[in-house]
Amino acid sequence: MELGDYGMDLGIKGKTALVCASSKGLGLGCARALAGAGVNLVMNARGADALEASAAAIRADFGVEVTAVAADITSEDGRARVLSAAKDVDILVTNAGGPPPGMWSDWEREDFIKALDSNMLTPIALMKALLPGMMERGWGRVVNITSQSVKAPIPQLGLSNAARTGLTGYVAGTSRQVAYAGVTINNLLPGIHSTDRADSLDGGVAKAQGITLEQARENRFATIPARRYGTSEEFGAACAFLCSVHAGYIVGQNILLDGGGVNATL
Ligand code: NAP
Repeated sequence: MELGDYGMDLGIKGKTALVCASSKGLGLGCARALAGAGVNLVMNARGADALEASAAAIRADFGVEVTAVAADITSEDGRARVLSAAKDVDILVTNAGGPPPGMWSDWEREDFIKALDSNMLTPIALMKALLPGMMERGWGRVVNITSQSVKAPIPQLGLSNAARTGLTGYVAGTSRQVAYAGVTINNLLPGIHSTDRADSLDGGVAKAQGITLEQARENRFATIPARRYGTSEEFGAACAFLCSVHAGYIVGQNILLDGGGVNATL
């Protein structure tokens, strides 16, 4: 189901979006929702096969132009290749794999540098490259996929907590410096969504606790007020709305999509 199916015109048909890390999961959900609104895409992931398959499905389903660039978005060379294929980008969705879980006492400087590179400095570099063009044209949208861990720490994901909170601080200031030019920057904070990443985290818990994957999942459902995981389609629809003409006054916000999982009033 696309947002357009509910009768809402997002007003972004014909625009161009770069959606990073988008062959699967939440990034793919965003790519599909934007394509559903008539947006042409530059898609990216490291693995070429899954990327080409997702790009082909989007071309067939929505009839938009899709350029697929297989590259590691967290490397300088990968970013350069993606950016050279992405001309006049109106919409940027930043995303990359999350850092591995672990224990605070095990992480060394190199672990932090890697996490900061992937989940803080990569989105910042992409914004630095693409914000000037958006500002010149007087319109732009940036959505960073971060995590609920920005609002409520997940202790074993300390590398993620640290890197994503750094990005959040950067966005809080920068979004307010570019808003005058019609460019908005916001962050989407996923709670648990049904993707490969969730399966791998549940697999780790199942192994550690000697229970089945199904049990691990049921135990986690019980901690979420909605009693289920989110879907990449729901996530993509929220992203597409933030990228729409209707969301121009939403600036520098951190929007949780977590089924109520973070127990907080604000
Ligand atoms: P996923 O299902 O594992 O998909 C990750 C996607 O990103 C794949 O297309 C993958 O393709 C691509 N990718 C990963 N590293 C990349 C890199 N360095 N360069 C380019 N592409 C890359 O993950 P997801 O669940 O959608 O999660 C997306 C982000 O949201 C992650 O940072 C995750 O930590 C965060 N998050 C997810 C959840 C959740 O419940 N799913 C919750 C909170 C936060 P290749 O492997 O082929 O590159």
